[in-house]
Amino acid sequence: LEVIASVEPRIAEATRAELADQRSSLKLIASENYASPATLLTMGTWLSDKYAEGTVGHRFYAGCQNIDTVESVAAEHARELFGAEYAYVQPHSGIDANLVAFWAILAHRVELPELAELGLKNINEMTEAQWETLRHKFGNQRALGMSLDAGGHLTHGFRPNISGKMFHQRSYGTDPQTQRIDYDAVRAAAREFKPLILIAGYSAYPRRVNFAKMREIADEVGATFMVDMAHFAGLVAGKVFTGDEDPVPHAHLVTTTTHKSLRGPRGGMVLATEEYAPSVDRGCPMVLGGPLGNVMAAKAVALAEARTPAFQTYAQAVADNAQTLAGGLLSRGAQLVTGGTDNHLVLIDVSSFGLTGRQAESALLDAGIVTNRNAVPADPNGAWYTSGVRIGTPALTTRGFGAAEFDRVAELIVDVLESTSPATTAAGTPGKAKYVLADGVAERTKAASAEM
Ligand code: PLP
Repeated sequence: LEVIASVEPRIAEATRAELADQRSSLKLIASENYASPATLLTMGTWLSDKYAEGTVGHRFYAGCQNIDTVESVAAEHARELFGAEYAYVQPHSGIDANLVAFWAILAHRVELPELAELGLKNINEMTEAQWETLRHKFGNQRALGMSLDAGGHLTHGFRPNISGKMFHQRSYGTDPQTQRIDYDAVRAAAREFKPLILIAGYSAYPRRVNFAKMREIADEVGATFMVDMAHFAGLVAGKVFTGDEDPVPHAHLVTTTTHKSLRGPRGGMVLATEEYAPSVDRGCPMVLGGPLGNVMAAKAVALAEARTPAFQTYAQAVADNAQTLAGGLLSRGAQLVTGGTDNHLVLIDVSSFGLTGRQAESALLDAGIVTNRNAVPADPNGAWYTSGVRIGTPALTTRGFGAAEFDRVAELIVDVLESTSPATTAAGTPGKAKYVLADGVAERTKAASAEM
């Protein structure tokens, strides 16, 4: 940090402050973790300085032999860890991984058949008129994914995201009673809508998904089945999700981030069957530029870590701790979406405490508990204020928290939520944004968490 401070002290200071914040608070954001020192150190090297557009052995720049090694090792670990036929480790983030997957599917299902029909090898050989026809076809495809309020991600077809603009999009929600995926309803939607792509995966759904059933639905309507396992990749890597709950044997393409439950560097990845591999391999130049050599190297290190028995123990603890957390919250009167969890996250419906998600998130933060607000199914407060708070166990499990600590965390959360009330506005009505936390609660909670 001294070296950084000599150039830009504010950055050194922010870095130092972030460490202090992460050490002094309870990090319960379901998508965050603590990467290992080996992973963090691997990111800070001169591998960052090298341009390597293209793929292994087929680069658009000279001198890429070391990046070739890095990318090959990372892909080998990914393939072997997840039992995938092919792995593409270049995407810089989860959104990039999804864009690569979408365009690989469009290339495989729309572009290649069109080229074959015209007897051409490459889109550059097309006439302007042929190209216009193909462009129109790209823009006319359908995707079916989980809705945002049911726990899906914005890249699964949400209108403000590019995915919602690229595709004619429809979403499936959850059953209003059970708040779980209703596979019959997904099948009915797929039969009616006939999507090119069926997307499974989520950011805020506290239950496991039956990917075998989803693949059956995709096959029935001729859709490519894509799973975004960004949130639960660590549970797949750690063999907590197996059989029908493991997306890799069932999906044509699986996308992921590497920094959430997988505990690697910030980045993304695409796994694919051999059939889709050549299209995914064109991620650069399709939607990516030069890969981040330092981050691919850190992915290799984190994936090597994830192949150890210690990581399997960790992944099981993540799931066990989520059960403890859910049990502790329920027994103290909290309401949980779907009534519990069987993955790494819990979604509290904080409306029973008389709060919006935003008020609850802010009050918890004041007390040193870092969470994020999240919509609940059919949320009356919308995506900004929301009625939910999402809580995940991956980060604190990395810190060594077990059942006793997570039960205490549940106690602290309920204590804070019960001690918070909406602030009254000038008009005498409760405001959606402002809140009042009872005196002494923040100090009491911070002191309790410092002991853990
Ligand atoms: N997919 C899912 C399911 C996610 O939850 C997220 C991030 O929250 C992403 C994709 C996007 O990842 P990134 O923020 O790395 O682009």
